[in-house]
Amino acid sequence: MTQKVVLITGCSSGIGLSLAARIAKDEKKRFMVYATMRNLSKGEALVKAAGRTLGRTLEIKQLDVCDEDSIRACVDSLPDRRVDILISNAGMGLIGPIECQSIGEMKTVMDTNFFGLVRLVKEILPDMKRRKRGHIVVISSVMGIQGILFNDIYAASKFAVEGFCESLAVQALRFQLNISLIEPGPVITEFERKVYEEGLKTDLSKADEVTADMFTNIYLKNYKQIFETLGQTADDIAEHTLKIITMDNPPFRHQTNTLYTPMTTLKYADPNGDLPIDTFYKMVFEHDKIFNASLNFLKLLRWRSRKSFTLEKDNNN
Ligand code: NAD
Repeated sequence: MTQKVVLITGCSSGIGLSLAARIAKDEKKRFMVYATMRNLSKGEALVKAAGRTLGRTLEIKQLDVCDEDSIRACVDSLPDRRVDILISNAGMGLIGPIECQSIGEMKTVMDTNFFGLVRLVKEILPDMKRRKRGHIVVISSVMGIQGILFNDIYAASKFAVEGFCESLAVQALRFQLNISLIEPGPVITEFERKVYEEGLKTDLSKADEVTADMFTNIYLKNYKQIFETLGQTADDIAEHTLKIITMDNPPFRHQTNTLYTPMTTLKYADPNGDLPIDTFYKMVFEHDKIFNASLNFLKLLRWRSRKSFTLEKDNNN
């Protein structure tokens, strides 16, 4: 059996790191993973996670999704330039009121999250079409379906990703290629920490009092609790993604977090689009106590299920 060649971007941390290590450790050795990162000096954590797979089913390469030359050099360095599965994972976040963000900051987010994917696909898709073989997997987000308060630019970048892939999917099918969007809810990674810390440092002097108060005392105040309650781990996302790349007929969209599904379902339930907006508004401004109580209840349930899982594991040992 020939191994499938998997190219993953943004592997120095978080989901990309977990994905690279998990796929390279596949028990049946079905994959050869090229784990790429912008800065090779940040490869220590991946080297550790890869363990004995390094140099066997995993190789580390340089790739900056904002630099076409680096993408081409990386693909050119692969045997026959072959990529069977492209996993576009590199990305960044941005939170806060838009009046406090510069157009430059916003462009960096679009350049990384959206044009980063476009550059990769431009380089890899023609070869996939020629071979009539390939799977493009994109780590999108539930925010590619449903915008969230103070994530305006990040959500816009993920909506762009989803629109791009939806358009491309029909053409891809003509060449027997698959496209899949993985849509996680909150995931506890460096991303969440970096975005929160940047959020705390936001200069709110350009925002009016109501907006500044909303950002500090509602959004940032609840941020950690939402991640602690609903957050998955990078390893969870890696398991979901492994499942998707090993399916005969992979789905176009895959949400990883069932706790989040009711929120995205609202979007499809009302063609006018008012239902999710009204629901979010009421949840944040009118029923905040119920919202907080629900989060605490969910947290307790998840803590109990983790506890019983740990005990079971201990008993077996
Ligand atoms: P992370 O910050 O740990 O990982 C992002 C990676 O992308 C980093 O290794 C970073 O160095 C890399 N990167 C950034 N710019 C790059 C560039 N120009 N070229 C190459 N690499 C670059 O965060 P993560 O949570 O692992 O994020 C991975 C993906 O998951 C992102 O696309 C993100 O939007 C998405 N996502 C994250 C969450 C979450 O809550 N953490 C939720 C849904 C989706």
